[in-house]
Amino acid sequence: MENVAIFDSPGKGRGLKATKEFWAGDVIFSEPSISAVVFDSLGERICHSCFRRGDKLQRCGQCKFAHYCDRTCQRAGWAEHKLECSSIKAYGKVPNENIRLVARLMWRLDKEGSMVSDMQLTTLDELEDHVADMQEDELKEFKVDIHNFLDYWPRTSKQHTIDDISHIFGVVNCNGFSVSDQRGLQAVGVGLFPNLCLVNHNCWPNCTVILNHGNQSAVNTMFHSQRRIELRSLGKIEEGEELTVSYVDYLNLSEERQRLLKTQYFFDCTCEHCKNRTKDDLKLAGKEVDGVKPSEEQVKEATDHCYEILEKMDQARLKGDYHEVVKICKACIEKVEPILADTHIYLLRIWSTLSEVQAYLQYFNDAADYARKMVDGYIKLYNPNNAALGMAAMRAGVTHWQAGEIEVGHGMICKAYSILMVTHGPTHPITKDLEAMRMQTEMELRMFKQNEYVYHSMREAALKNKPMTMMHEPKNVEEGIKNMFHRKK
Ligand SMILES: [Zn+2]
Ligand SMILES: [Zn+2]
Ligand SMILES: [Zn+2]
Repeated sequence: MENVAIFDSPGKGRGLKATKEFWAGDVIFSEPSISAVVFDSLGERICHSCFRRGDKLQRCGQCKFAHYCDRTCQRAGWAEHKLECSSIKAYGKVPNENIRLVARLMWRLDKEGSMVSDMQLTTLDELEDHVADMQEDELKEFKVDIHNFLDYWPRTSKQHTIDDISHIFGVVNCNGFSVSDQRGLQAVGVGLFPNLCLVNHNCWPNCTVILNHGNQSAVNTMFHSQRRIELRSLGKIEEGEELTVSYVDYLNLSEERQRLLKTQYFFDCTCEHCKNRTKDDLKLAGKEVDGVKPSEEQVKEATDHCYEILEKMDQARLKGDYHEVVKICKACIEKVEPILADTHIYLLRIWSTLSEVQAYLQYFNDAADYARKMVDGYIKLYNPNNAALGMAAMRAGVTHWQAGEIEVGHGMICKAYSILMVTHGPTHPITKDLEAMRMQTEMELRMFKQNEYVYHSMREAALKNKPMTMMHEPKNVEEGIKNMFHRKK
């Protein structure tokens, strides 16, 4: 850990600072989880060892709960599943993800001591648990988990005091980090990473965290090697500067971010962007046309209308009624687009959903138009190296390519690639996909400029083979990226 040091961050308690200079895309540190579990809802679809999604996972014959890609993954995961396996059998049911994670952590710590690696800068004992800050209803749920944990925890394992158990539950509660599947598109589990716990929040951070599953062949060679996070620098960082990441999406208004941080992580954000309410005006702005702005009432009315529509839109999307989503969004857009700026966060959400759904329904021209509008708005709001911006540019690039707009498509893919080289790094599967797309679209663009006829016939053939599809069901694709820090809602 020669790149970072613990220090007292004014007003924030302990934090990490850089001990040398960093540049955009530098990996400041990389570390495996102490432990991690698959979400309750995905127990049968995600491998409990490598956290990859699989179609034909094999079930553990003992507990019938854990699922694995194959024997290799099962063997690799056995050290952390062994005691869990017998406890689930004895308990007669599967406890929830929080309880499973706390138990896995405690078995590991009991076996290896409070320092599981010599890279670790702090022990879990020293981390804040914020149990004393919890609201009454949260505390009630918390106590139910502890009660169930005590029933689940075997008599033959080391016994701990209620205070110690409650401390670990509290630490997991405010430091658990979402683990995504191999594509990085969906959160599939939660884990605890020892040094990441020390990185404080800033709404406009200088670092980002990415989970990198590494390459397939190296996955099972080392215990836990498959669940590594990388702390990556978003821009230049000076020696001695505090390292920060964002726990919440910047697309929320500062007041909303502060509320989320207070209720979920128990602190008042005093970052520059919160203090100055930076960009709040843009996020609710009216659209200026030829120097004329809409009145405040018009903007407020359009904002309120969007707010109502967002709920209906989300409901229709959850039901899978995609044609209804399109109908609702289009009617709303027709009404509010002349009034609201392209940085208005509600309009951005509507464009985002509509482009996703239209891509799924294969209306690529529409999908491309809305995706481009969304990216134009995002560029004015997000840090130029924000991962969500990169993912949006990627989506816009793919839909433009699908719509046959090769020039814009290639430009967007290049933009996405340059961002993801910083936020995800060159070895991440999405960056590799982007690199392939960049080469493909570059070749097509050259062809297009030489001979449009050849280009169009080739493109049709390529579309039939669908080498660049992103047409999975449109539901919460971005969730895993925007809210990386796992908290129950
Ligand atoms: Zn696996
Ligand atoms: Zn088992
Ligand atoms: Zn802030």
